[in-house]
Amino acid sequence: MLLQDKVAVVTGGARGIGKEIISKFLENGAQPVIWDINQEAVSEAKDEFKDKVLIQPVDVTDYLEVNKYADKILDKFGKIDILVNNAGITKDALVMRMKEEEWDVVIKVNLKGTFICSKVISKMMMKQKSGKIVNIASIVGLMGNPGQANYSASKAGVIGLTKTIAKELASRNINVNAIAPGFIKTSMTEKIPQPVKEKMLNQIFMGKFGEPEDIANTVLFLSSNLSNYITGQVIVVDGGFYI
Ligand code: NDP
Repeated sequence: MLLQDKVAVVTGGARGIGKEIISKFLENGAQPVIWDINQEAVSEAKDEFKDKVLIQPVDVTDYLEVNKYADKILDKFGKIDILVNNAGITKDALVMRMKEEEWDVVIKVNLKGTFICSKVISKMMMKQKSGKIVNIASIVGLMGNPGQANYSASKAGVIGLTKTIAKELASRNINVNAIAPGFIKTSMTEKIPQPVKEKMLNQIFMGKFGEPEDIANTVLFLSSNLSNYITGQVIVVDGGFYI
């Protein structure tokens, strides 16, 4: 029970990696809250978690909505201890073919969404003088990837944001770290063509793709007291892809 009675918001928590983080948090005694816009995934999560998890239809790019729902959590539970900025999207294309809208929306969800949620919730954490923020970046934010200029730029931005906010909040006892996953088996990676997947697999030294639980375990560590003296770091979880 590493997170007994901790109130934890996980954006994009209704499916994929986010949902696994929610399960891990529940197992460890936390009160998790899902913020997600995928209605189908939200209704499945409601059926699965019942009243153990608070589920709110929050779009992380909407500042007023984020403020409104963060206030609702404060009214209900009196605090927010953990924020996991996990919501993310891809719109892949080579730069020469990438549409301006594809650039804008990926930067908006992945980077601006992380900024908005961090801004709103860190204000509450500052008053509490404690908190943990974990941002889900990606190894492509460190190494780049053809066809993902928008996505890799957004994730590199998340890493810069993580390091800056970590410096701004360290004296308030708030840890801010990022995780850079490699290839994890979710619906986001399902749509990658088979030949590309095989090429990637050949470059992973452990010879296998990651599971959502591999990321959830690292999020658990960074959200718990076990990581109290770690801030501003990027932990790569990729089976030995980007070494
Ligand atoms: P999924 O697409 O499975 O889940 C992401 C969830 O976030 C979806 O339910 C999605 O809804 C939701 N979401 C999208 N936009 C918003 C928004 N504006 N506000 C609230 N929720 C939103 O993704 P994964 O679980 O695979 O990925 C989770 C995170 O991990 C992402 O940040 C991703 O970039 C990162 N990551 C994933 C890797 C992988 O291999 N899977 C590798 C490296 C990083 P909808 O379905 O409607 O878009």
